[in-house]
Amino acid sequence: MQNITVIGSGTMGNGIAHVFAQNGFNVTLVDVAAAALDKALITIGKNLDRLIAKGTLSEDEKVATLRRIHPMTDLRQGVANADLVVEAATENLALKLKIFTDIDQHAPPLAILATNTSSISITQIAAATMRPSQVIGMHFMNPVPVMKLVEVIRGYATSDDVCQQIMALSKQLGKAPVEVNDYPGFVANRILMPMLNEAFYTLYEGVSDVEGIDTVMKLGMAHPMGPLQLADFIGLDVCLSILRVLHDGFGNPKYAPCPLLVNMVTAGKLGAKSGEGFYTYAAGTKELVVAERFR
Ligand code: NAD
Repeated sequence: MQNITVIGSGTMGNGIAHVFAQNGFNVTLVDVAAAALDKALITIGKNLDRLIAKGTLSEDEKVATLRRIHPMTDLRQGVANADLVVEAATENLALKLKIFTDIDQHAPPLAILATNTSSISITQIAAATMRPSQVIGMHFMNPVPVMKLVEVIRGYATSDDVCQQIMALSKQLGKAPVEVNDYPGFVANRILMPMLNEAFYTLYEGVSDVEGIDTVMKLGMAHPMGPLQLADFIGLDVCLSILRVLHDGFGNPKYAPCPLLVNMVTAGKLGAKSGEGFYTYAAGTKELVVAERFR
């Protein structure tokens, strides 16, 4: 496997492209928005600079890594030579089904098609293609260059061979893959999202304020980051989409998204990426400025 195409160059796509390129793979990075591609390359450059400052990467390796990444807005052309496609576009079922139908028609017949979806059924995505045995979930964690875990999700039809190839490839990237089955939210978000949702409800019901809730979970439970700040980093729109998948998939009211989260997303407060969520962020950074007031 040498040619990797990453679809979507947002929060996750730029990290996935970075990790593959740094490990010697030839990466085509596709996004419908040219501005998102420009932003992704700047982010990757800054993240590589951080590794140089830490002494774990040389200037030459940075240049070589960036040279291996080829940005493109045309998906069909972008997947034409792919051995593996990793889709990391917006978390939306209809969009992903359309993208996989397109990829299936234009990628080489033997290419493996992976999705970084946080919660959408791999089996359903695979059914949009003519090669369901070659479709798999490859769920990287945020921020991709830092986090070790890859949740490898087997759809109903995913073959043993494809699963083994993706497990081995994840190890080649220096990651620790864990194989799981295809049920709503898989393992990571089935457990994480109800906890974040409970933090939203705790705020909504006025039990404590933003800083109080995050401090309790950081200092009391040894979490590196409070749940409200983590939700801001993940993206509140992404959290809402995942909760809706859990709610629809299990039909259990315990997954109903907190009305405060729904209101914030509707108002365009998406967390760090929009500059405002439970906290306010300095323009274009994840620097936390101030906790928003909620009552
Ligand atoms: P994002 O909103 O930051 O980026 C999505 C990108 O997809 C945007 O740049 C958008 O222009 C692009 N896009 C939309 N339609 C496209 C198309 N048809 N073709 C090509 N590009 C298209 O989203 P994100 O947070 O990077 O999430 C991407 C995926 O990764 C989602 O499935 C999400 O559930 C999953 N995920 C997110 C996180 C997280 O912490 N944010 C963690 C793990 C997995």
